[in-house]
Order: sequence, then C-alpha cells, then structure tokens
Amino acid sequence: LVQPDLRMSPLVALGSITALLLLIFRWIWSYWRIPARWFESVGSLLAALPLLLSVAHLHALSGFQEALNLGLLGAGIMSFFLSLSRLALVQVVTLCVWAVLAFTAGASLSWLYYVFGLFAATGLKVHSVFRKTELQKALDRAHFEIHTRESVEHDLRENKERYELVARATNDGLWDWDLKKGEIYFSPRWRTMIGAEEGEVHGQPEEWFDRVCPQDLGALRKAIVKHLEGESPHFTAEYRLRHQDGGYRWMLCRGVAVRDEKGRPCRVAGSQADISDRKWSEEQLYQQAFQDELTGLPNRALLSKRLERAIDNSRQSGKPCFVVLFLDLDRFKNVNDSLGHLLGDELLKSVASRLLKSGLSMETVARLGGDEFVLLDFNVANERQALRIGNRVRRELNRPYLLAGREIYLTASIGIAWGRPDYRTPTEVLRDADTAMYQAKLRGRDRCEFFDRSMHSQAVDLLQLENDLRRALKHDEFTLHYQPIVSLQGGATTGVEALLRWQHPRQGLLSPKQFLWLAEETGMIVPLSWWGLREACSQLRCWLDTINDASALTINVNLAGKQVMQPDLVPRTLEILEETGLPARHLRLEVTESALLRNQGGLTSRLSQLQDSGVKIHLDDFGTGYSSLSYLHRFSFDALKIDRSFMRSQLLKSGNRKIVEAMVELAHDLGMKVIVEGLENEEQVSLARKLNCEYGQGYYFSAALSARRFGEYLRSQKTVRQRRNLVSIRKIS
Ligand code: C2E
Ligand code: CA
Ligand code: CA
Repeated sequence: LVQPDLRMSPLVALGSITALLLLIFRWIWSYWRIPARWFESVGSLLAALPLLLSVAHLHALSGFQEALNLGLLGAGIMSFFLSLSRLALVQVVTLCVWAVLAFTAGASLSWLYYVFGLFAATGLKVHSVFRKTELQKALDRAHFEIHTRESVEHDLRENKERYELVARATNDGLWDWDLKKGEIYFSPRWRTMIGAEEGEVHGQPEEWFDRVCPQDLGALRKAIVKHLEGESPHFTAEYRLRHQDGGYRWMLCRGVAVRDEKGRPCRVAGSQADISDRKWSEEQLYQQAFQDELTGLPNRALLSKRLERAIDNSRQSGKPCFVVLFLDLDRFKNVNDSLGHLLGDELLKSVASRLLKSGLSMETVARLGGDEFVLLDFNVANERQALRIGNRVRRELNRPYLLAGREIYLTASIGIAWGRPDYRTPTEVLRDADTAMYQAKLRGRDRCEFFDRSMHSQAVDLLQLENDLRRALKHDEFTLHYQPIVSLQGGATTGVEALLRWQHPRQGLLSPKQFLWLAEETGMIVPLSWWGLREACSQLRCWLDTINDASALTINVNLAGKQVMQPDLVPRTLEILEETGLPARHLRLEVTESALLRNQGGLTSRLSQLQDSGVKIHLDDFGTGYSSLSYLHRFSFDALKIDRSFMRSQLLKSGNRKIVEAMVELAHDLGMKVIVEGLENEEQVSLARKLNCEYGQGYYFSAALSARRFGEYLRSQKTVRQRRNLVSIRKIS
C-alpha cells in the first residue's frame, strides 16, 4: 500500500509501529498510572514521527498530487480538532472505506496521507485528552485536599478553642480515658473538685475509682460497662467521691465512648459535676416529705407507701404477708398537759429511740403524729410472734423515763391487725389496727389486742355514740340523779350527790361509765359539767324552797378534770350560784386525784378562792391514785371520800381495814371529815361507824334517784326521822 519509492523505507515501518506503540503506551500509562513524565517526551516524539514521515513523503511528490496529498494530510491533521469520539468515528469510517477500496479497486495512495494525518491527529488528540483529564483530575484532587485540610484545620482550631473555653468556663471536671493505653486525662477542675493539688493526680483509672464510695462503685462500673458494650448511647452515674478532706461529695458523671472502625471502644470521655447541693436539698425534701420532724422516724406518707407495697404482696400471694401494730401511749395527754409541750416532745423522742432499741428498724417503725406509732413487720408468722413483739415493745416503753430530773412512767396500748389479702388501701389496715388499739384501751390499757371483725362494728357504734353525744346537750337529753349522803351518827340525810345520766333516745338511760370517758376525750365534758353544776344548784334551791326541814341540805357536784383546769372556774361557779340563788355554803365540789395530777397554773389557789367564798371542796375517790397523801398536804380539803373499792367485804377482811383506819385517822388529824362510799350492807355501815367516819353513801341507804323520786325520798325521810324522833322521845320518857 506504500508508495513504491518509499516502500522499502524503514521510516514507514518505524512510523507505523511508533504510532501504534504510542497508543499502546498511552493506554498502559493511564491504566497502570505510571508517572507521565517518563513517557511524555517519548510519546510526543513518537506522535511526531508519522508527521515527519508524511512530510518526508511529500517531499518526493510534486504538482497536483503533492497538493492533493498535502490537502489530505491537512484534512487528517485538522481532524485533531474534532472531539475524541468523533475522531474515532471518522477514523473507523475512513479505515473501512480505505480497506474496501484497497481490496476492490486498489487504494489510491493519496488516501494514505489522509490516514497518516488521521493517526497523527489521533495520537496527539488522545495524548492531549488524557493529559487534560489527568491534569484536571490532579487539579481537582489538589483542590479537594486543600479544601478539606483547610476545613479540618479550621474545625480543629475552633474545637480547640471551644474546648479550652468550655474547660475554663465549666464548673464540671472533664476526663478523657484512653482505653488502649489505660490512662486518663483529668482536667484541672476535676482535680480541684476533690481538693487535689497539681501533680497529686497522675492519670490512672484507680485514682478515680478508688475514691468512689464503695456503695456506689458497683452502679458506676455497671453503667460504664453497659455503655462500652454498646447497650446505651452514653452513660450517666451518680456517686459519692472522696475529697482530700476525707469527706464525700456527690458527683454526677456523664460520658460517651469513641469507637474504632470495627466499633470497638478506644476512648471514653466525659464530664463530672458536683451535685452535693442538689443531693442535699433532695434529701431535705425527702425528709420533709417522708420523715417525722420530731423523731426522725418515717411519717404517715412513707408508711402508706410501704403499706401499699405490703398490701400488694399479700394480695398476690393470697395470704397475710405482714402485720401492723398500732401503738398509742396511755394518758399521754396528761403527761403533756402537766409537763408542758417541750418535755412532752422530749418524751416522744425517747419513745422513738426506745422503739428502735427494742429490735425494730427504721424500716418498720413510723410515727403517725401525736403519741401514735405504727410498727410494720413482714417476718411474723403467727399471733404468738406478733404478741411477742408487742409485749417486748411494751416492756421497753414501761421502763421509767428520766426527764428534767423526774422519773416518768408510760404505758402503751397496742392494736394488732393482720395484713389480710382483702385489704385494699393502707387506710383500711390502719383503721382496723387503730380499732384494735382502742379496744386495748377500753380493756384497761397497757396491753395488746388483735383486731377482729366484731370490733369494727363496735367502732362504728362508738362513732355513732360520739355523734349522739354532740347532739344530746342541745336536745336536753341529760338529767341528774341524786344519791343521798347520810350522817352515820344521826342517820339523817345531810347531803346529796348529783350524778349524771343520759336519757339516750334509743339505748335508754346510760350511766356515766358508758359515755363520760368519750365526753372527756371529745372535750364535751366541759360544757356538760357546767350544765350539771347549774342544774344541780337550781334543783337544790327548789328543794330548799319546797321541802320543810331540808334547809341544811347540801349538794355534792363532781368536777371534771378539764373543768378544774379552766381559768374561769371561780367566777363561773360563783355566777351560777348567784343566778340559781343558792348560797355557797350549800355547795360541795368533788375533785378527783387524777384531776389534781394535771395541776397546772394555780389550781390550788383557785380551789382556795372557792373555799373562801363558802364552797366546800371534797377529795373524791380517795385511795385509788398513787400520790394521795402528798396532795393532802398541799391543799386542805374539807372532806375525804374513801373510794368504794375499799368497802368490798373480802377486801375489808384482808388487811384493807387497817389502811382505811389509817386513812380516816389521817383525815381527822388534818381536820377533814370522812365520807365512805359504796356502803351496801349493815356490816359495812357498822364498820364505817366504828371507824368514826362522819358520813356514808351507798345502796344501803339509797341508789341514785331521779329528781322527782329524790324529792319523795326526802319527804319520806322527814317522816322517818320524825318517827325515829318519836321513838327516841318515847325511849327517853
Ligand atoms: P363517783 O363520784 O365515785 O360516784 C359514785 C358512783 O358510785 C356513782 O356511779 C354511784 O351510782 C355509785 N354507787 C353509789 N353507791 C354505790 C354502792 O353502794 N355500790 C356501788 N357498787 N356503787 C355505788 P355513777 O353514777 O355511775 O357515776 C360514776 C362516776 O361518774 C362517778 O363516780 C363520777 O366520777 C362520775 N360522774 C358522775 N356524775 C358526774 C358529773 O355530773 N360530772 C362529772 N364530772 N363526773 C360525774
Ligand atoms: Ca363523786
Ligand atoms: Ca367517788
């Protein structure tokens, strides 16, 4: 195909081969990414070869042919300006056409120039395109690298500044734990949080964990491990950290792990804040909400929570899982009233510490308020065990208390309720235990009682009674009954004791035993007693006016403990006397020892004032209290009423008689008269006479009678006395 005179020229072969090599090299170069400069010069040279060849070829030609060949070569070279894909297309088409022509009609040599041109152009084009794209790529890469480096640097700088700012500004200590090296960086603030100087903390994990309070260490480790194992997005833990001063500070720690490509943690970093203040106020709040201020024991709110849980347990297991002991101190009010509230509070604190001492823990004791405590126990299997706890507590509380230089004795009544599965709310359990406690009080105090369902109805009855009592005064349901006080020497009725009765609309006539304690507890006793005094005075006035021979009759009225303590006792009594028109010398007020025990604020002076106005004061129920004798010295009573318990015949036989003798003697020595209560038979009456007691009272003479019947009694007495007088006159005559 080569022009005949050039056919043997090695230049042609060389040119063709180099052109081909050029392409191959370019391809290898770009494929294997061999540095360009190795091939660049060689490549350019090779690319130039076909051109040189063509030019050399042209040299041999002339005229039209030369022009044509030159044109064709030019056209081939011009195609350099086509895009690479078009160039390739042109080349393929040209080659095909030329091949067809070559095999059919014999190719014209001129075509060859064109083809040479094409090859040369292609070589250059490919080279330049490759070069250009490569350059572009390198440039892009460089741009990208520069850009990313810049932004990374910027970020780094910004982060560093930010970190420094945070580390300086924050009150939190920062730490950064390199898990691979096993070292921790602690920020200066972290150090100062535990009071350590620079150089005192070296960056070992132990320096941290050894300071954590042993009780909190487990939770902290657990939180960290859980996070490192990927179970939590970050970890937080609260713990106490030992300060250099030896005390603990509460810390809140937060941290997050940095992981490698495989997701293994390689670093953990975080912050630690001092939350001691918050913890302290939380504790304060908790204490306010759940702790009894006075004794530090759990309060009603906390008890209710515990009871709720206990009730749930019982309901789930279907059998009683716990027992509640409701404890109420006996007559604590008296103690409080007589010692003052400050000492009363001290006493309650001592009771609380005794409860804790008697083997009960903070978990089981609570104070409901006042003198009420509740014990909640989960480890009690039967009644005997529950009773044993109750009695142990009672014994502990019974030991004397030393307060302000005095010995004080306390007892407690305890109600026990089993945590049955049918309880729904803590209120129900407490209500039942309270009811049982009430029964313990009714059955004599200082004892334990178990709750049973019958008590519940009794409690309901009691509530009803209380309501009725409140209404009774308004509805005029109270009356007085009168029991004569008889002169043991002459046999005449010289006085009368007014005794309260309640005409209950449904239950009939009730004696004081049945309702007076309730009136005392509810405070109703005060208005009731004033009513009684007024009623008794006006009744006696009426008898003095209507019954002849009764002009010397006196009336004994019982004073309630609370009434005695009223500051206006004297003026009010005198007012009633004045209003009813009864001279003071007809009135005797009976005071009991227990009322005197609560003596506060000049009771004796008030009683003396009454005596000065002519009213006589009798000491009732003498011998039943502990301190009877000491009171006899403090106040000069006009008369002593020896309690009816001394008159029981079997007691009189067994040495009681000596005591009564001594009491009577003492009373007489102190210038008091003696009234013996509870005289039921001849024997007792004659004994009382023998002992030189002045007066007697009891069923032997008469039970308490209604006003109307007592009026009749008085009138019949008159006739009896007249008859007796007649008899004695006859005897004399
Ligand atoms: P008290 O002052 O010792 O009254 C005597 C009580 O003994 C009365 O009971 C009376 O009915 C009862 N009694 C009288 N003779 C005999 C007897 O021979 N044998 C026996 N076994 N008992 C006898 P009552 O009326 O049930 O009163 C009980 C207590 O209630 C009184 O004891 C008194 O402390 C109190 N009380 C009664 N009325 C009043 C009142 O108006 N005001 C106040 N504050 N207390 C009152
Ligand atoms: Ca009395
Ligand atoms: Ca009495």
